[in-house]
Amino acid sequence: MSDRRAKIWQVLDGVMDPEVPVISVVDLGIVRDVCQDDKHFNVVITPTYSGCPATVQIEDDIRAALDEAGFTDAGLETRLAPAWTSAWISEKGRAALKEFGIAPPVGKPGKRALFGIEMPVPCPHCDSTETTLVSEFGSTACKALWKCNGCGEPFDYFKCI
Ligand SMILES: [Zn+2]
Repeated sequence: MSDRRAKIWQVLDGVMDPEVPVISVVDLGIVRDVCQDDKHFNVVITPTYSGCPATVQIEDDIRAALDEAGFTDAGLETRLAPAWTSAWISEKGRAALKEFGIAPPVGKPGKRALFGIEMPVPCPHCDSTETTLVSEFGSTACKALWKCNGCGEPFDYFKCI
């Protein structure tokens, strides 16, 4: 990996998700690649999902971070296929979500819908699996609101998509 390319990854790692400011766009799995053609770098991003209002904000934040670091000639390329999946969230990202009080996605994307299985979502506060879904929509459309029967705390669950 060239020095400049490594530096770009470093810059991207400092761009936080606007909704969950403890997880970077790299750990969230939004940044797919940093490619290089003849003389330009291209940052390839896949939005979490097209309806997410944070997507535009994320693109703006990445652009601003690249410009600030002197990579004004680096391009931003949005790739919609394959679609983003919560499986792309890194281990570091999952730990950061939990630390922030958001339960990271459990199980394989689509499995719940496919088999009608309700996966237990462990409480990010006390790790109890005695939790109940309160609402399919939490603080944002990307999250669901759950409540823990163990400690009584409500928490956001990062939906498995
Ligand atoms: Zn709990």
